[in-house]
Amino acid sequence: MPSGAVAVGAVRRAPVVPDWRTALAELQLHSRVRWDESLKRLNTWRIGGAADCVVDVQSLDDLAQLLPFIREQRVSWAVIGKGSNLLVPDEGWRGLVLHLGKGFKGWAPLEAPRTVRVGAALADVTFAQRCIEPGWGGMEFLVGVPGTIGGAVAMNAGAHGGESVDFLREVWWLDMGGNLRHAPAEAIEFRYRFSELNAHNGVVVTHATFELRESQPPEVRKQVDACLRFREEKQPRNQPNCGSVFKNPEGGHAARLIEVSGLKGAVRGGMQISPLHANFIVNRGEGTAADALALIEQAQERVFRDHGIRLELEVQHLKRLPFETLVPPPASSSPVS
Ligand SMILES: Cc1cc2nc3c(=O)[nH]c(=O)nc-3n(C[C@H](O)[C@H](O)[C@H](O)COP(=O)(O)OP(=O)(O)OC[C@H]3O[C@@H](n4cnc5c(N)ncnc54)[C@H](O)[C@@H]3O)c2cc1C
Repeated sequence: MPSGAVAVGAVRRAPVVPDWRTALAELQLHSRVRWDESLKRLNTWRIGGAADCVVDVQSLDDLAQLLPFIREQRVSWAVIGKGSNLLVPDEGWRGLVLHLGKGFKGWAPLEAPRTVRVGAALADVTFAQRCIEPGWGGMEFLVGVPGTIGGAVAMNAGAHGGESVDFLREVWWLDMGGNLRHAPAEAIEFRYRFSELNAHNGVVVTHATFELRESQPPEVRKQVDACLRFREEKQPRNQPNCGSVFKNPEGGHAARLIEVSGLKGAVRGGMQISPLHANFIVNRGEGTAADALALIEQAQERVFRDHGIRLELEVQHLKRLPFETLVPPPASSSPVS
């Protein structure tokens, strides 16, 4: 193994110095820049190789410099939250990962009742816990979602019959020109586990406003506890996973289809379709992205063969995130002066 090479699952690759490295240094960012950085600790599956570069973005100013830089230099890029719905290839990823940090963790209650503005890097769990004391109801489900608010908006995260868009009032994001834009939630397209405001569309969500439902602290706490109990009983808690691998097809449950196809508990290398919940693939220790992909393919083929249904991935494959984004931001947004 050449000196400085990185071991990545079964794959090893020597670090390559990207031709934009010097130009990035000239930006004089205040954020930490990590080169040839393993992404294993930045995703909840704990799999995958290294990215050329990870920037722990600390401020809006830094982000506003980085996005035009990415566009001008034609750098492959992605923004990640807690990587709780992310598949990182074993061979790593040639590009720049934006990982929002401290400057994006704000929590600011507004004058309007039960309304709060939060940063995109705030943990969903923290959000849910902070709603208990004031007795704000509705988003208790976030206590079981180990992602960030940015990820919850981008994926329209939801559970137990609710989803993020139900309580979302306004969103702010930076476009690839580094311009801060915002729009009310109703002007943005949201569907089941989909939002127009995903990095796929060349936007980085920076903060959002939510209006919660009137409730009482004991009631909110009760709902939070019920959500946690549900997770403990129905989902694998102690093995790294990415939550639901597939979206539920209309009118059905991916887990049920996989189970009926006889794949619950199926193993490939270090990964297993959870014996507890067939829409979860767990890492048993030494799992790789290749193992996960083999199980994904097997489940898709079997379910199609047995039920005629093509399961669609919910987990986001890093390889499919933008190379260079030319998609314009949603037409209904306004620039923030
Ligand atoms: C144990 C477990 C349980 C889960 N349960 C649920 C559940 O009940 N409901 C549910 O919906 N999901 C669930 N998930 C999946 C996951 O937690 C959610 O999709 C979450 O919203 C992803 O947030 P993240 O910050 O980790 O995003 P990441 O996984 O880091 O990224 C996911 C996608 O969001 C994009 N993205 C992230 N941040 C931003 C941003 N600031 N701007 C633009 N795009 C961004 C990324 O580019 C990527 O496309 C679960 C996962 C696990 C591990």
